[in-house]
Amino acid sequence: MKESIVDTPRVSEILSACISSGDPSAASAVVERARDKKGFGVEDAAKIIGALGDPDFDRRLFEAAASVKKDIYGERLVFFAPLYLSNRCANDCAYCNFKSAHSALKRADLSVEEITRETASLLSMGHKRLLLESGESPEFGVERVTEAIRAIYSVKTRFGSIRRVNVNIAATSTENYRKLKSAGIGTYQLFQETYHPAAYADVHPRGPKSDYIRQITAHDRAFEAGIDDVGLGVLFGLYDWRFEALCLIEHATRLEKKHGVGPHTISVPRFRPADGVEYAPRYAVSDEDFLRIIAILRLAVPYTGLIISTRERPDIRAKAFGIGISQASAASATGVGGYGVRASGTAKSVGAKAGQFAVSDERPLADVVASALKDGLLPSFCTACYRRGRTGEKFMELAKPAEIHNFCRPNAILTFAEYLEDFAAPAVYRKGMAVIEKTLAAVEDAAMRQNTRSALDRIKNGERDVYF
Ligand code: SAM
Ligand code: SF4
Repeated sequence: MKESIVDTPRVSEILSACISSGDPSAASAVVERARDKKGFGVEDAAKIIGALGDPDFDRRLFEAAASVKKDIYGERLVFFAPLYLSNRCANDCAYCNFKSAHSALKRADLSVEEITRETASLLSMGHKRLLLESGESPEFGVERVTEAIRAIYSVKTRFGSIRRVNVNIAATSTENYRKLKSAGIGTYQLFQETYHPAAYADVHPRGPKSDYIRQITAHDRAFEAGIDDVGLGVLFGLYDWRFEALCLIEHATRLEKKHGVGPHTISVPRFRPADGVEYAPRYAVSDEDFLRIIAILRLAVPYTGLIISTRERPDIRAKAFGIGISQASAASATGVGGYGVRASGTAKSVGAKAGQFAVSDERPLADVVASALKDGLLPSFCTACYRRGRTGEKFMELAKPAEIHNFCRPNAILTFAEYLEDFAAPAVYRKGMAVIEKTLAAVEDAAMRQNTRSALDRIKNGERDVYF
């Protein structure tokens, strides 16, 4: 395991050296080279960090990130929603509403029947991809999560079914990861929260999560269990973002070295106020720095999906989509049973359905889709790679020479066409179909373009779940 652990003193040294000796021409060279989409490691990322603040340099950084984003992901933006299963938690994370010390919080977990209902609500909103969330507790162990995954996949409504279930639950054993794998997990996401050991100890005073090593080696155990799509993240605000961004890059590099494939995704949550949480981040990240983080990560790990959540305001999300974000949650409820709450409008402030944190983008999916279209993006609900076995190393083999485009564009078109047929108001339908036609014309391979056209016609005629 040792080789997967990030050498944080070394990262600190590299960062301090670059900040004190800031070399703008070396930093510019890194940014220019990164347009080749080969990525870079912690030393080069630190050079960029050392040169930030000069408006001209920052502009070039954002331009390069936007160009890499466009080359690799085109106009696509994948949407998903979180589903909170349980807010019981044995941990006491200072920043979280679900912490064990929050005695006013009503604790709850969803039964299979309730999971089925929440899933049906999410399907009726237009979602096809979910991210399961839960606290860590003996009452809601891995068996309950695997039961939930199976229950979710089995829900079939007139809007189809959930096709990919990603999971964000506490670090666990290889044996438990095997159970998740056999239940059909998509990506396993786990955030280190902070890579700084002392800061980590401060905010995780007790409970199993207080074990820094258990947390940082979790992705290795997931790989050992055969889960080959894993996601990293930190909670920005707990420590200096510059250190955290470098550690994310280092962690990604180490996973790739050890397992032959880096992380499938990196999430960039920023701390948000929450009920029962007095924690005030000493290292709050400004909007400007937040966008810089995204640009640096996009250039450093070009083939890794970058995920943004509804913790962020619509205006920041729109900017982030342009410079690197490839996946976004939308219309999220962050409490247990939250989608039922939406329907009945009975949210209570500290009830079980109260969110884990305050969201900043409360728009319904239809509005998020409409604004993405306005910004020239193609919303996607694609789950094809995972279902065709294009995961882990196989995914990267296709992604790196950009062959993944041959699948992604058509699949994005087809999943968005389904969405438009089933959910869109007439004006959005017209605009969406126009974007689809434009994107279809950009499918380079003539045979694939033709196949996509036929599949699109089948969808318009009522067929669903057509993918390559
Ligand atoms: N309980 C598991 C864990 O801690 O790894 C899994 C999911 S937890 C529900 C998801 C993530 O929410 C945490 O990893 C943390 O980064 C984030 N989070 C917790 N409190 C937050 C807050 N106040 N603002 C923003 N994000 C928060
Ligand atoms: Fe529990 Fe996760 Fe919240 Fe920590 S972040 S208190 S582990 S739910």
